[in-house]
Amino acid sequence: MTGEQPAARPLALEVIAVPNDGSMSDQPTNATIVGTDEVFIVDPGDQAGVEIIGRAIDARRGVRVKAIILTHAHPDHAVAAPALRQRYGCPIMLNPKERPILRQFLDWSDVDLSLKGGMTLTVDGGRLETLDTPGHTPGHVALYEPVARVLIAGDLVAGHGTVGIFPPHGKMSEYFDSLTRMRALDIRSIIPGHGETLTQPPDVFGRYIERRTSREREIYAVVARGPTTIEAMLPELYPDVVPQFRRAAAATILAHLEKLRAEGRVTADSDDPFNARWRVSE
Ligand SMILES: [Zn+2]
Repeated sequence: MTGEQPAARPLALEVIAVPNDGSMSDQPTNATIVGTDEVFIVDPGDQAGVEIIGRAIDARRGVRVKAIILTHAHPDHAVAAPALRQRYGCPIMLNPKERPILRQFLDWSDVDLSLKGGMTLTVDGGRLETLDTPGHTPGHVALYEPVARVLIAGDLVAGHGTVGIFPPHGKMSEYFDSLTRMRALDIRSIIPGHGETLTQPPDVFGRYIERRTSREREIYAVVARGPTTIEAMLPELYPDVVPQFRRAAAATILAHLEKLRAEGRVTADSDDPFNARWRVSE
């Protein structure tokens, strides 16, 4: 015996695109089955996930589902969870900070196990490390597989386009902070909540930070030209926005303004952010 440890094997990760109702994303949701003989199901998706993920699990004869892990409680990630829990007799894991989102969007609220950053979840001889990544939602948790250095990112990033940060549940300052922390880790590939797996380099998180920072600068510049409402900022900041995305665009502007306000850089003259006139701080 040389005393050497056998090289750790990366956990098997199967990504399955699950269609959703389109209200949260224009792309299917990525569900991930982690492990081989014993598995975690991460983000089983919308209603269609009951059938699609159920079929994928049943095809692996004799497999044991250890838990259903939800990165966050948005319905396009979480609707299928209780039916699959019942089918496989496994717990649902979710951060308790997601409770307000469960209450707002879903018709169930009984979570079996608390999820938060700093946990090590073992399955099939390997492990996932949990990482607090709030911003998109208050209790968003990403999962890191340290052997292959893969991040199951939930809605921290998207395969293409951007991720929605919508107040009150979404917080831009937390989102910047999460991106900055993820950027410091040695992550080789990223399974986003929607769209294709992303490989690093390029510096995916750096690009997100850069894009949001330049957006923030543009918003500050618009406010600096004189007190203005979010409604009045819209055509300048989103000249091509189609009607169905106007609310999302307005909410994104608000998310940036709330961050700037917390930093003492802008103020609003009313408690109703959409009727308020925003100005830069003296
Ligand atoms: Zn989401």
